[in-house]
Amino acid sequence: MPRTDALLVSFADAVRVHGAATVKAVIVTAQQRARAGEIAPSEVASQVAAALPTGPRRVINATGVVVHTNLGRAPLSPAARAAMDAASGTTDVEFDLATGTRARRGRSALAALASAVPDAGGVHVVNNNAAALLLCALAFAAGREIVISRGELVEIGDGFRIPELLRSTGARLHEVGTTNRVHLRDYAEAVGPSTGFILKVHPSNFQVTGFTSTVDIASLTGLGVPVIVDIGSGLLAPHPLLPDEPDAATALRAGADIVTASGDKLLGGPQAGLLLGDADLVERLRGHPAARALRVDKLTLAALEATLRGPIPPVRQTLEASADSLFERASLLAAQIPGAEAVRCVAAVGGGGAPGVELPSAAVSLPMEYAESLRLGEIPVVGRIERGRCLLDLRTVLPSDDELLLRAVLG
Ligand SMILES: *Cc1c(COP(=O)(O)O)cnc(C)c1O
Repeated sequence: MPRTDALLVSFADAVRVHGAATVKAVIVTAQQRARAGEIAPSEVASQVAAALPTGPRRVINATGVVVHTNLGRAPLSPAARAAMDAASGTTDVEFDLATGTRARRGRSALAALASAVPDAGGVHVVNNNAAALLLCALAFAAGREIVISRGELVEIGDGFRIPELLRSTGARLHEVGTTNRVHLRDYAEAVGPSTGFILKVHPSNFQVTGFTSTVDIASLTGLGVPVIVDIGSGLLAPHPLLPDEPDAATALRAGADIVTASGDKLLGGPQAGLLLGDADLVERLRGHPAARALRVDKLTLAALEATLRGPIPPVRQTLEASADSLFERASLLAAQIPGAEAVRCVAAVGGGGAPGVELPSAAVSLPMEYAESLRLGEIPVVGRIERGRCLLDLRTVLPSDDELLLRAVLG
């Protein structure tokens, strides 16, 4: 039977990461299994290696889905990672070093957001976009009505539905229009003394085509109640490659009182919910008792600020790479892998953004058997299966990871 102290020495790296107590417990369990005859004593070490906790692991996203929810949505920029590292100890998140007194929490991140969205009179950050919507409903519509088009009753994913989220606050939904069409008069008839606000939700993960009509933000602003717009993906300004994706600046200029958005979709930052708009309304949101339960931690604030002020984040880099440059990389990689070829393909934005947008892309095409071994590798690579081949779509792989990808494929 391998001795405990010898095993602790050979798993020194794991001890550094997990602590001696955790590793020892795994060792003892493996030894007990060996004593019980379930495994051979020679298998104890490999059993320990297999049973050690891993935590979330780094994965290379070669799916061609730029914002992949199951793979953690936006990868952070090196600047954002460095900022999180710096903020991970004690930090001045809520302290003014110049005066030695308490300061507004996350003030520099909020200032970065305000300067990134000059059309917003006030800005606030919460845990995610769902939290932003929740706070709006709590603050402006509890016991009152939210007027919303039937075509915008969206299920975000994993069974979560925006209408149910809103109703959970005690707000009532006053649905207007039909699945495919809604008119200004529908909204006008619905608005009354019990209206808290009108909500427009971007259908960010589906498209309705054909006989459709919606009402734009500017038309809704004349109805005498606040207009809140959930743009979804967190584009702060229009993006030329995504002409149909709503952005905060345009929505605010059109007259939206509050815009809500995610920080970790097309903005490319940490999970966060952005609240942008009328200064007085934002102040009411910030002052609501529930705001404390939805507040973001210092790491999020640090990463958000670095994303807003720093170099272009990976989401934008991968979105904007030219198809030819991707094909060139695919060709270089394929030339070094027996049985591989470079192919042109189509990638997607994903993650609740720009539904239907096809991004021309290129991939390393491999026999299908690679899919599983790559997923189970030391640095897991997740590709996609298309027509019996395993495609590693380079749209979502940063060029700096090509070498790692190559090593993963060559085993
Ligand atoms: C993604 C999305 C949400 C939810 O955002 P989270 O940041 O995941 O909470 C809400 N509304 C729309 C339109 C979305 O696309």
